[in-house]
Amino acid sequence: MSEFWSVAVDAPLSEPLTYRAPEELKTQLKRGLLVNVPLGKRSAKGLLLSEQATAPDFTIKNIQNIDPEYAALPERFISWLEWMAEYYLYPVGTVMSLAYPPLKKTEKQRKSSRPPVVAVQTQSVAPTLTEEQSQVIQGIQSQPGFGTHLLFGVTGSGKTEVYLQLLEKTLKDGKRGLVLVPEISLTPQLIQRFAARFGDQVAVLHSQLTDRERTNQWWDIVEGRKSILIGARSALFCPMDDVGLIIVDEEHESSYKQDEKLKYNGRDCAIMLGKSMNCPVILGSATPSLESWKNAIDGKYHLHKMQRRVENRSLPQVQILDLRAKDKTKASDLPFWLSQELFDAMASNLERHEQSALFLNRRGMAQVVLCPSCGYSCECPNCDIALTLHARTHLVCHYCDYHENFKLSCPSCKEGELTTVGVGTEQIEEDIQRIFPGARVARADRDEISTRADLEELIQNMENGETDILIGTQMIAKGLDFPKLTLVGLVLADVGFNLPDFRATERSFQLITQVSGRSGRHVKLGETPGQVIVQTYNPDHASLIFAQHADFEGFATQELEARAALNYPPLGRLTSFRIQGTYLNRVQDTAQLLARRATALKTKNTAYENIEVLGPAEAPIAKLRGQFRYHVLLKAQDHRTLNAFCQQLLGDQKWLVAGTRISVDVDPLHLL
Ligand code: ADP
Ligand code: ZN
Repeated sequence: MSEFWSVAVDAPLSEPLTYRAPEELKTQLKRGLLVNVPLGKRSAKGLLLSEQATAPDFTIKNIQNIDPEYAALPERFISWLEWMAEYYLYPVGTVMSLAYPPLKKTEKQRKSSRPPVVAVQTQSVAPTLTEEQSQVIQGIQSQPGFGTHLLFGVTGSGKTEVYLQLLEKTLKDGKRGLVLVPEISLTPQLIQRFAARFGDQVAVLHSQLTDRERTNQWWDIVEGRKSILIGARSALFCPMDDVGLIIVDEEHESSYKQDEKLKYNGRDCAIMLGKSMNCPVILGSATPSLESWKNAIDGKYHLHKMQRRVENRSLPQVQILDLRAKDKTKASDLPFWLSQELFDAMASNLERHEQSALFLNRRGMAQVVLCPSCGYSCECPNCDIALTLHARTHLVCHYCDYHENFKLSCPSCKEGELTTVGVGTEQIEEDIQRIFPGARVARADRDEISTRADLEELIQNMENGETDILIGTQMIAKGLDFPKLTLVGLVLADVGFNLPDFRATERSFQLITQVSGRSGRHVKLGETPGQVIVQTYNPDHASLIFAQHADFEGFATQELEARAALNYPPLGRLTSFRIQGTYLNRVQDTAQLLARRATALKTKNTAYENIEVLGPAEAPIAKLRGQFRYHVLLKAQDHRTLNAFCQQLLGDQKWLVAGTRISVDVDPLHLL
């Protein structure tokens, strides 16, 4: 028994610290236990990593005690956490702290007035599989052990059924299953489908749960009462030792990436967890990310395709409408954002008592509020971002939630009257109520739907046919399945094209495909297929044409070529450094120091000569929440070299100018 232990302390330290094992604890200590250790004047949590033969020659403090609540974390799980800390250049103790629930365990579960987290209603029986489904299931089952399987299946091809049957087999083998879905599609509908098959064996973790509910779900898994965990990306951190299958649904979703603190990608971490657990990992999507697609065509992942909808239901017909064309037949009382064609289609859907949905990725009334006399536009005082008008009464920043009252007269020239440009979901709702006075309209965005109960009610009204027209943001673009929804309008497909982000085209292709997938999901062969109308100012944009023809492979081929020309992912690797602080000149100084260090490091070491250093430059959002932002972007061919380079580049960070800080984003998804 050694006297010294290396401990991952929950504090912003890049390395573990050394502590002494007091005599009375020596025999009980082992890797993976949670302990309390002194840190400065306070006490902190820490995870025991390894025994140490020697200790540094300064005073070593004693481990205080072992946390009595938690058993040692499983070895396969600890090694995965260690990988994360190293890969994402993040303090190992902070990564470890994510493996524990928010609250203490209670013996008696307190009664709550909230409905149960997973409500089991009806039992469902497995349908007879389609040929494509059987083939995929056989293909995956014939490869036991770790392997990554990309399930590329069109919307409505029955991917969820594939998951359900593979999970059934996993449970039969005495193992458990982990299912990751994007937060936004963790709807009651989805949870119901799993609960209907697996009854009370399902645990759920998502952001709408209270800390108490979350803690209880965590213990249900850790103590083995539940065998399937469904959750958003953070569910990965629930320590399960006997995982036999990991599923990542809608693997392309950018919400798998955490954009703050530990900037991990849940999909990539799920693959590494599968490797650690030696179990298959399934990535499912109708529009795979180019990262996964490239790995599949390169043979690193197993590729499984499902190209037909179940029961030969037809794919929707997608029509692209040019908003630039002056339409002479357009009725004069239609708002600018609504084409005559979309209006006609909605009107005839109403007549047939079928449902329509309109999507727009923008909340509020209007995107920009400006003065036509002097050109002043209302911007957030904390952020470099235009304010959005809500309810004609107040202006809101969608980044920091800054609010101010809306006044008509221009605060700058005091002469002009402010006008609005663009459209948001609130405006659409108002216009639709005026145009179709008898229609029952519902709106789904973050202002309207803030709780699980709100969403459940919205879904129920759609299912019961009590809503005719649904208006919403991305919130309803995923995972929902309504039999009577036969028309989907994408109000403006262009939002996003102009963002300074090399993934903008990919995102718009994904959005159109996902949104279209909501239309006519239950239309039988021979019946009129679901209809999709995409309104745009860029009708020739490649992503629109490919999406119209449901041609993912064509899109991917063209887009991979474009990325290759610039060494962008998935061909090259990126790491971005964001420098921020309250004073612009200090931020600039640190950014310049960082870039100079990078160049020096490159010239010193030939292994790094192919790393490209871009910047420093002002970030596209140059100021956010009162903090100025600069960034430096690194491009390289392989991750290993880049990771080593970044470690050295950051060093001890003592070189940073006071009042500035750097955050590292490995494999960034958003470069704003
Ligand atoms: P995806 O996830 O690929 O979009 P789903 O799994 O949601 O597709 O399936 C679409 C619909 O088809 C669902 O209503 C589902 O219950 C149904 N379904 C799935 N597989 C079958 C099958 N083999 N036979 C009949 N219906 C099926
Ligand atoms: Zn703001």
